[in-house]
Amino acid sequence: MNPETSQATHATKVCERCIGRAFANVGSGISNNERGHNFLENPENSYLFNGLTVVEEDSCQICHGVFKRLDLYFEEFINQSRDLEYNTYLVGSKFPVETVSLDQELQKLLDSDKGEPIKREFNREFGKLINEKTGKEAEFNEPDLNIVVDLSYDSFQLKTRSIYIYGIYRKMRRDIPQTRWIHKKDISTSVETVIGDILKSMAQGRNYFLHGAGREDVDVQMLGNGRQFIIEVSEPKRRSISLEDLQQKVNGLNEGVEISNLRLTSRAEVAKLKASANDKTYLVRVKAASDIDRKRIIEAAEKLSGKHIYQRTPLRVSTRRSDLIRDKQLQEVTVEETLGNIAVVKVRAEAGTYIKELIHGDDGRTKPSLSDVYGEQLTVETLDVIWIHRSDE
Ligand SMILES: [Zn+2]
Repeated sequence: MNPETSQATHATKVCERCIGRAFANVGSGISNNERGHNFLENPENSYLFNGLTVVEEDSCQICHGVFKRLDLYFEEFINQSRDLEYNTYLVGSKFPVETVSLDQELQKLLDSDKGEPIKREFNREFGKLINEKTGKEAEFNEPDLNIVVDLSYDSFQLKTRSIYIYGIYRKMRRDIPQTRWIHKKDISTSVETVIGDILKSMAQGRNYFLHGAGREDVDVQMLGNGRQFIIEVSEPKRRSISLEDLQQKVNGLNEGVEISNLRLTSRAEVAKLKASANDKTYLVRVKAASDIDRKRIIEAAEKLSGKHIYQRTPLRVSTRRSDLIRDKQLQEVTVEETLGNIAVVKVRAEAGTYIKELIHGDDGRTKPSLSDVYGEQLTVETLDVIWIHRSDE
């Protein structure tokens, strides 16, 4: 080997630990320092040392003594994580490109494919130190705290895992949407903000997101047994949130949003919740141009009960949904009462049925509609969801 050319690609002054790391996957129960020491003691290996000088870790051109400074990193970590509540953690790290490449070159030079990267040793050793000194547990799948040490800048990125809380909400007003509308600044309240603002402040989080099991229109109340949701608060400093407090605070606001059945959950449940599709029962106040003919509207409701209807994507949502014709089943349509030109109609329908369109027909895009069968144009005064038929209830 020509030392002139080799100098450019690999380190010449290396420590026992960095040598030992090249054989990290050989044997267990010993440290990389010991592995390096044993390797160097073995005269059979001496031919591999051409051009290498073994030095103390502080002078090592690969690790620069980073493993000797773990206590200092730990102190800084404790400083920066002082405000964060966590029980489990995971350590990651970023090393300068040059270090990574020198580390790899040494392992090649030593002709070893049994090594581990320097970051893996660092993550393990720093993780062990945190465990020993704090008693908190390392966790690979869903750690409360993600720690990334950037060795180029000796800086830390500390990110706590989102908290997910499951619950059921009822919305007793007709002027707020389920989630924030980024593009409509004039509507500043939503089910999401009512719950999220309180949760965010309790958890000292960065942001929040409400994931609903479906949604109702802004002007539709969500009554009865309510709708399932999961609210996520990101980067919380506090994790031990009193769900009872959260419920009391939200319900105590009297913002027309009421929550119940709270429990902690995980991200995995969000997709499950979003995929759920249940029948719903609605109460609709239907209006006609003239007095309702009670007998005719009851007959019209009976005709629709148990029938399938065909709904082309309503114009009002056509910018967000693809233009399809959906076949939806109406389980039951009944007339609760009539008064003048108003009829109160109860509809139980399959998930995804457009109820407003079922009543007014959407210019022929929903067939048949209650207007068709009744024989006069009807409009929707108010609409409420009064029951979601969840199979587990
Ligand atoms: Zn070293």
